[in-house]
Amino acid sequence: MKYFNELNLMPSLLKSLEEEGYQTPTPIQEEAIPIVLDGIDLLGCAQTGTGKTAAFALPILQLLSTNMQRGRNRKIRSLIITPTRELAIQIDESFKAYGRHTGLVSTVIFGGVNQSKQTQALQQGIDILVATPGRLLDLMNQGFVHLNDIEIFVLDEADRMLDMGFIHDVKKILLALPKKRQSLFFSATMPPEITKLAATILHQPQKVEVTPVSSTAETVKQFIYLVDKGNKMPLLIELLKDKTIKTALVFTRTKHGADKVVRILNKNHIKAEAIHGDKAQNARQRALTNFKAQTTRILVATDIAARGIDIDDLAHVINYELPNVAETYVHRIGRTGRAGANGTALSFCDAIEKEYLRDIEKLISKKIEVVADHAFPLMDHNPVKPPKQEQRPARNAGTPHHSGAPNKKEFIPKWKAKMIKH
Ligand code: AMP
Repeated sequence: MKYFNELNLMPSLLKSLEEEGYQTPTPIQEEAIPIVLDGIDLLGCAQTGTGKTAAFALPILQLLSTNMQRGRNRKIRSLIITPTRELAIQIDESFKAYGRHTGLVSTVIFGGVNQSKQTQALQQGIDILVATPGRLLDLMNQGFVHLNDIEIFVLDEADRMLDMGFIHDVKKILLALPKKRQSLFFSATMPPEITKLAATILHQPQKVEVTPVSSTAETVKQFIYLVDKGNKMPLLIELLKDKTIKTALVFTRTKHGADKVVRILNKNHIKAEAIHGDKAQNARQRALTNFKAQTTRILVATDIAARGIDIDDLAHVINYELPNVAETYVHRIGRTGRAGANGTALSFCDAIEKEYLRDIEKLISKKIEVVADHAFPLMDHNPVKPPKQEQRPARNAGTPHHSGAPNKKEFIPKWKAKMIKH
């Protein structure tokens, strides 16, 4: 293991890292920083949570510092494109934090909000631009952004770009970049389409790979609660009686589901907010800020909204619904247990979701421990699958297990018992 001062980083960056409280580089930082400082193209196979932002931001700041520009006539010399607003904001915040003693200026542009503040920032003169693809193209077309002087280009979360249908936008942006440049390409997964895209962007790249998507962090304890669909809400409320859960990020599959969970939690005096694509940008940002400040205890998110959300010290992720794509499970639980911290991921699985659980266990090559003894055990083991994809609300009337108050008993959550033992 190395220290930051062994990576040939300049003093002003080492100073900010010390202020950030970073002690040692993460594996991707240790490997990628020297490559980028050498001016070599990089293919980084890494997901959010591995420290990849600093792995590219630190060497970019250093490379740009060797040739400082001043004032409003600065040319944009580094461009980072990333699929979501949340990621874009976080990357810009990282550049500002690590670069605070360098004199370099960064700004961020993303869609869904009025452009005037963004164009004003651009007109002040910037060195580094962080952008989502749609708004970037828009502002390029309006003449607010010129990419002729880009020296270092970063494509972040390439697989997500593809999933979200941004690939054509990305290709248009690539056409506007100078041919002679350094390029860094990051993706959590490397399906053939991504490998092909990388080959069109990178020139003799070096590859750096950390925690492939099929592996879940060793530091995250994972548990499954088998529970009937209709008992998920009571189980969640029961688990949240545990005051040692200071905050938790809860995942639902749909926006509608997220709103419903928030509504019921709030009715039960558990402060919760939702973050998903239907919320205005301000509302999402506010929810995230409240959650980080722990004034909101529970943040309920859908996958797209949560991808890459950067929350330090997030100890609990709860999968209210299991995702039907196994990789998504890995991404979700990657929100906790970051940088070696301990995390716990609790997943609710109803009878129909057992199929998803099998896929997840196959992907991560291990069995997730089932909490056998909890207040709302699964009764309906063989539900009739509803027609089409839609799942109907559970019909609770009739059987003694499902009617009225749930079959509740006192219990100590197993994950907690385990944590006490450790
Ligand atoms: P990222 O994968 O870039 O989203 O980073 C994940 C989280 O790890 C962020 O909260 C960073 O602030 C934090 N982080 C990155 N590098 C380090 C480091 N070397 N030491 C401690 N925390 C870090």
